[in-house]
Amino acid sequence: MEYNDLGKTGLKLSKLSYGASPLGGVFRNISEQDGIKTVHTALDLGINHIDVSPYYGLTVAETVLGKALKTVPRDKYVLSTKAGRYGSDFADFDFSAARIRTSLEESLARLQVDGVDILYLHDIEFGNLQQVFDEAIPCLMDLKKEGKIRYVGVTGYPIKIFAETIERFDIDCILTYCRYALHDTSLERLIPELDEKGVGIVNASPTAMGVLTSRGAPDWHPAHKDMLAAGAKAVDYCKQKGIDITQVALQFAIDHPSITSTLVGTANPANIEKNVKWAENKADPELVATLRSFFDGVPNTWPSGHPEY
Ligand code: NAD
Repeated sequence: MEYNDLGKTGLKLSKLSYGASPLGGVFRNISEQDGIKTVHTALDLGINHIDVSPYYGLTVAETVLGKALKTVPRDKYVLSTKAGRYGSDFADFDFSAARIRTSLEESLARLQVDGVDILYLHDIEFGNLQQVFDEAIPCLMDLKKEGKIRYVGVTGYPIKIFAETIERFDIDCILTYCRYALHDTSLERLIPELDEKGVGIVNASPTAMGVLTSRGAPDWHPAHKDMLAAGAKAVDYCKQKGIDITQVALQFAIDHPSITSTLVGTANPANIEKNVKWAENKADPELVATLRSFFDGVPNTWPSGHPEY
């Protein structure tokens, strides 16, 4: 496993990291035992970074992850969780300083740890950006000064929100999803600015949240139906050639020199084993070009949060 610097933080993250949202049953109902085994397999195979949120499975993912981490020495992993998102409606977001502080305490209790390494504001495009800038990010900076968290980040989907955030604040890292994968590479627009400022880049959802897997996208997937159809065609194309599309999707997403780490989620230990193995090699460029061409002219991004962002 390769390990890369996360911006200026001094943290070294495994190139492939573990996203714990499936532990909350967001893609399918899972067995808790398999979920716990998946976390242990990931750590045994050299993955040293785990991401979660109170939102995933409405606290379930943090609780299951806490059970898994209970037996693991704390210096074996870099842990991130998030604050601000607690559901899917606008009313389920709260970026007030008071809620961020209680949210962190609740997360620590569920995760059964004394601290997290990174605290992100979760999907800031659903909040009032004025409040995010005036109250939420300053609150994270205070928590960092108080030693309650080590590093500060924001997550979200629109590229614009990251540009605005890093222009105003010296944050440590961003977590972006579905923006550097076979269907869309629009994260590239922002990379020069992130690199110049030394902001660490965590890239999530190499399979575009299930689109580039043989199981396909979950019902709640926000993409346009034409993108989902293009994804299904790409999956079929690979199937006919006897290739697992997830392998190509993963190898493509992790192969960017500026991306510190790519988060992939699963609650199946066998998938983690495959993912770690696949991460050792690069994708065939010709196959990548063919798969990317399935998304040419297709609406490959979607609205997220307030329309102005
Ligand atoms: P993903 O692209 O990692 O896809 C997950 C899906 O891929 C699951 O259905 C899983 O079963 C399947 N999968 C994984 N490995 C597989 C394999 N080898 N073979 C077949 N199928 C496989 O999407 P994700 O889980 O949404 O993203 C990863 C993580 O990134 C999340 O768990 C979360 O931690 C983070 N994330 C954060 C945000 C945010 O902060 N806004 C958004 C998206 C994701």
